[in-house]
Amino acid sequence: MSTPKPYSHILVAVDLTEECDPVIYRASASAEANGAKLSLIHIVEPMAMAFGGDVPMDLSQLQQQQFDQAKERLERLIDIYPQLSKDNCKLAYGQPRQEIHGFAKEHGCDLIVVGSHGRHGLALLLGSTANDVLHGAPCDVLAVSLKKPE
Ligand code: AMP
Repeated sequence: MSTPKPYSHILVAVDLTEECDPVIYRASASAEANGAKLSLIHIVEPMAMAFGGDVPMDLSQLQQQQFDQAKERLERLIDIYPQLSKDNCKLAYGQPRQEIHGFAKEHGCDLIVVGSHGRHGLALLLGSTANDVLHGAPCDVLAVSLKKPE
């Protein structure tokens, strides 16, 4: 069996919570080990989607606040991580799975890194973002365990 090719472009998807640190660490260490390019994406989900579609009020102002908050958090990450810059970080708007897959396809990413809570039971049935991203992914997916030690 031949040795697999090193990854050339790693995409890390982050939810911008304090939990995203281990995910970024793993992705940037993998990028360094493989001599790969690193890109980061965060997706702001349409509020109407979170409320299940029809919402009888104007959410545009709230949505703008959500976007501005995400931008601030992303800028903070860029200040902390020397591997990140405005050029390799993207804020997108839409559905995480669709946007992550779309970015990976468009930019020829060969590894997507996400965090995983390793949920069981009902939560697993309902699905998590990591689960969602895995299905139909255009490339390999690495799920970094975010389980707290017992
Ligand atoms: P969750 O299933 O929502 O607990 O999230 C698991 C992982 O999915 C996170 O650690 C991120 O890697 C990724 N993720 C969740 N939400 C987003 C988002 N809005 N944008 C990008 N990645 C996300």
